[in-house]
Amino acid sequence: KTIFNNIEELPGDALFAIKQRLAEDSRTFKVDLGIGAYRDESGKPWVLPAVRKAESLIHADPSFNHEYLGIAGLPALTSGAAKVILGEDSPALAEKRVVSSQSLSGTGALHIAAKFINKFLPGRPVYVSDPTWANHVSIFESQGVKTVTYPYWDAATKTLNLDGFIKAIESSPRGSIFLLHACAHNPTGLDPSEAQWEEILDACVKNDIIPLFDSAYQGFASGSLAKDAFAVRLGVKLFAETAPIFICQSFAKNVGMYGERCGCIHLIVPKQDSSVNVTAITKALGSQISKITRSEVSNPPAYGAKIVAKVLNDAELTQQWHQDMITMSQRITKMRRTLSDKLVALKTPGNWDHIVNQCGMFSYTGLTKEMVQRLEKEHGVYMVASGRASIAGLNDQNVDHVANAINEVVR
Ligand code: PLP
Repeated sequence: KTIFNNIEELPGDALFAIKQRLAEDSRTFKVDLGIGAYRDESGKPWVLPAVRKAESLIHADPSFNHEYLGIAGLPALTSGAAKVILGEDSPALAEKRVVSSQSLSGTGALHIAAKFINKFLPGRPVYVSDPTWANHVSIFESQGVKTVTYPYWDAATKTLNLDGFIKAIESSPRGSIFLLHACAHNPTGLDPSEAQWEEILDACVKNDIIPLFDSAYQGFASGSLAKDAFAVRLGVKLFAETAPIFICQSFAKNVGMYGERCGCIHLIVPKQDSSVNVTAITKALGSQISKITRSEVSNPPAYGAKIVAKVLNDAELTQQWHQDMITMSQRITKMRRTLSDKLVALKTPGNWDHIVNQCGMFSYTGLTKEMVQRLEKEHGVYMVASGRASIAGLNDQNVDHVANAINEVVR
């Protein structure tokens, strides 16, 4: 009868706690730079025009229904999604070395990867960047997969610690799994340059690393799907003869499907000599992923998948989507510039170039925990305690307030 009585209450999730405090804050002027979700210039969630059109086409179709999808998800989604991340002309796709399965957004894809690693690559830790998205650690550790950090962010210079990163690759046991943020690194907003990616991935190939790309922001960093997939596509090319690759893909941010939980996991099998039956390998891998999905969610959610599949398979909607990603990434870039300019104009102590140089949804501002607390308490500006600000929460109406508030707390 007392079996539940001694179960410890855990602290709430830090990010969702911000949302809660914001909702309870009675001040009329508040600024949400917490959650990583795009906001338009009036601070509102944005349903992408491509999504609006896709939804109206879906509802107008007399055959629309709410039936179950298959266990691996909607084929029109998974095949379109593979082309989005790998490129239309991907040799891996032409050579049928890709296994794709629908997942509960990016988190679900990572979760499947974690279960798969625990089962088929037991004992291997997953190396994650220092810092990384906090949920990475929870997702892998909840499945019994240990995580180890590799150096990434150099706080003193606010730049990439490339040497430390490469040394970690070189000194890890052969066959280690490295989780790489495909673009728009969360939380730092700092991505390796293309030349740095070449060095990183060369080191990975030399040390037989298994890359696990987390692609949650493709199209958000630069507005271009191809540019933001540079690292993934280079990795797929360099590893074509050597190691398998995991890709965890989310459509939460780039299609604005946050709550619909639409994503995919892709496993890429390396090329092998002709005695190896790659078709049999991909079938086996697909069956194992399906086994995981079946036992956990039975089959993935249909609605978001139908929307994204429509966007990816209708030329006009695809074009609109490309435009929508440009709209989002350009507005964020503009707000980075505006905030940085205002801090410079206010002669706020410190250098604020990193706000402009970082990319994607976030800026790792360098503000301390105490400064972040004061921003919230005294100015109604909410961000993560690490100093990570979601730039998408800025707009012309609130950026002055935010700049003045930052200026006040850093002095
Ligand atoms: N990976 C990273 C780095 C993220 O920042 C996020 C979301 O914030 C995700 C994965 C997964 O998000 P979702 O499960 O909403 O697709």
